Formats: sequence, structure tokens, C-alpha cells
Amino acid sequence: MTNILVINAGSSSIKYQLIDMETEDLKAKGLVERIGIDGSAITHTTIGKEKIKTVKPMADHGEAMLEVIKALTDEETGAVKSMDEIQAIGHRVLHGGEKFTQPSLVNEEVLEGIREYIELGPLHNPANIKGIETCMELIPGKPNVAVFDTAFHQTMPEHAYLYGIPYEAYKDHKIRKYGFHGTSHRFVAMQVEKILGRKDLRIVTCHLGNGSSLAAVKDGKCIDTTMGLTPLEGLMMGTRSGDIDPAAIPYLMHKYNMTAEETVTYLNKKCGVLGVSGVSSDFRDLEAAAEEGNEKAQLALDMFCYRIKKYIGAYAAAMGGIDVIAFAGGIGENDNIVRKAVLTDMEFLGVDFNEAANNVRGDADLTGPNSKVKILVVSTNEELMIARETKSLVL
Ligand code: AMP
Repeated sequence: MTNILVINAGSSSIKYQLIDMETEDLKAKGLVERIGIDGSAITHTTIGKEKIKTVKPMADHGEAMLEVIKALTDEETGAVKSMDEIQAIGHRVLHGGEKFTQPSLVNEEVLEGIREYIELGPLHNPANIKGIETCMELIPGKPNVAVFDTAFHQTMPEHAYLYGIPYEAYKDHKIRKYGFHGTSHRFVAMQVEKILGRKDLRIVTCHLGNGSSLAAVKDGKCIDTTMGLTPLEGLMMGTRSGDIDPAAIPYLMHKYNMTAEETVTYLNKKCGVLGVSGVSSDFRDLEAAAEEGNEKAQLALDMFCYRIKKYIGAYAAAMGGIDVIAFAGGIGENDNIVRKAVLTDMEFLGVDFNEAANNVRGDADLTGPNSKVKILVVSTNEELMIARETKSLVL
């Protein structure tokens, strides 16, 4: 029996999964929401048993984690008899800066390292630390492993990760491209390698969800990615602007009378397809609106897909060609309209896509008969990747 608990702690939430790593089967999953806010609740499902929702006040992550332990070990609706049946805990950590190029077994030095990058991940890293510390206290004696969203991208060469600003800004203040969704890009690239039975591949991994990013993966290593110092750079997303002329920012501040912080929040929460369409950040709503003739919704979709195409072209240049385009994430796995728009008129790259196969959800091969490029849909599984990394480090 090898059970690994995967924890994704946010500022007011904890998502968790319990995975049996002998079979890689999910045993239980759940979500604690509104920690420290009115209406705290835990929703827990042990696979094969009924879903349980309990609303009760939880003042902090400690109280929330006690509820997670209770739910996992509940005699009737739980997944294990006691926490002794769990061998290790894997944690999603947003920012590992340049220090963490691999998952790390948590000790005081690693915690200090994660603290060091709070400045770069101010919303996530403090919550991630809380999640780890709470587990160390309430589930004592288990190894905890930190798996970083940035780690996979640490193989990018300097010419890809540096910004065109004075070198001191990088040296003194760590300002550079880091990239995010690394666990997903790595999982998808590894699945592709497994499917094709080889590693010498030039892959563009497209993680398209609420947050979206592309990565150029050559011979298993990331050589470029669209997100930057923060997850705001790159593609246009659900509510994030993506690439924008930096000089537009003071202009926006001036025109809308916003502070720097308000402007960053605006660019993260009010922009992207939501901002352009005025309809929604959810692609199902956008596509329904576009279907009914809403031109702004159509424009937002066109902009979203256009940027993906542009970056695929850029990464083809960066890698000297492409062997595989792989789609993942809520949009990548489910949205055949986006996939079609991205893959149409890409023959110059050797892309011929099989439209008949496109009406699927989840794993699929969309490669057309004349394609030089494999086109795959891969269901990403960041939690399983975290559990695999944890297992390989501690068991
Ligand atoms: P994620 O962040 O990976 O969970 O992706 C969530 C996003 O995926 C949602 O906001 C939707 O925009 C999109 N999505 C999920 N299911 C569908 C679907 N069936 N068709 C189109 N978009 C979808």
C-alpha cells in the first residue's frame, strides 16, 4: 500500500487528493473553501462512496486540515482507517524561483527557500507554506515534498528567460521569466513521450484553462514558455490580459485613476476574454454568445486563438520545427472550437488535422493523414504528477 496525499493550499482554500501509487488510482478528493471567511465548508468524496458536504466555521488552515483528516478517516465515508495508511504528502508550490529546479523534500532550509520567493508569489507562496506547516504539525512523521510550478521551466536558456532590461535588474532583483503550470507541461510532455515511444521530440504543450500557457519542450526539456515573472505574461486568458505594451500600464493608471496595485489586479481579473467580450471568462458561455451573434464574444475567441497560433509559430522557430502539438487543460481537453481555430491554416508547419476526430473530450489523436506534426489531446493530471514526484523522492 502506497498512499500519497496531494495538497494544493490557497489563501482561503485547500484542494486535496489521495492517490494509491501502486495503481495510480484516485482514492479520495476534496475541497475546503472559504477558510477564515463566513460559510467555510468541506466537500469530500471517497471514490465509490457518497459525496459529503459539511458547512462549519474554520478559522484557519489548521482547522481546515483537521477537517480534511476527519473526512479522510471517517468510518463510513472516509478512504483510510487512520493517517498511518498515508506514506507521504506532496504539496503544490507556486514559486520556486531559481533555487528549486526539482521537487524537494521539505526541511527548514526548503521552507526558508519558499519564503524567500514570497515576493515573487505573494498570493500563493504564503498559503503553500501554511499548507506544508499545517501538515507537518497535524500529520507528524510523514515526509512532505514541495513540487514547484516553476521548476520544469528552469531549463530555459538565458537568452529565453531574460528580459531586455539592465542585467542588474535580474542579478539584484531576480526579474526574469520563470513560467508556470510547469507540473502540467511536464506531465503532458511525458505522456506524449510515452504515447510516441521516444524522447527526441520537439513538442509545443498547450495548457489552456482559466490560466493558459504554452511551452516549447525539446528532448524533454523546456526551452521557452509564455508566462513570465508572474502568470500575467503571454497568452490572453480568461481574465488576464497576457502580453501588453508595458507603456500602456501607466497610461491605464492615469486614464482610470488606478494605483499600481489596482492596475495589476485589473490586468489579472478584469481583462482577457472576459474584458474583451464583456460576457464571461468561461469558454462555454463565450461560444454560446458568439453562436447567438455576439460579435465581442467572437472577437475575444479570435484573439485568444490568434495568440496561441502566433506562439506555436514562434516555438517552431525556437525549436527548428515541431513534431507534436499537445492540448491540455479545461479548454484544451474539451473545446473543439478553439482546437479547430488554432489548427486551421497551419499547413505551412506541416499540420494537417483530422476534423472528424475533433469532437471528443479527453485523450485523443487529432493527427490528419498528411500531417508531419502529431496532434494530441492529453488529459493533464497535476495531482498525479505531484504524487509521482513525491513517490520518486521519498519511497
Ligand atoms: P481549467 O482551469 O483547466 O479547469 O479550465 C477551466 C476552463 O475550461 C473553463 O473556464 C472553461 O472556459 C473551459 N471549459 C471547460 N469545459 C469546457 C467545454 N466543454 N467546452 C469549452 N470550454 C470548456
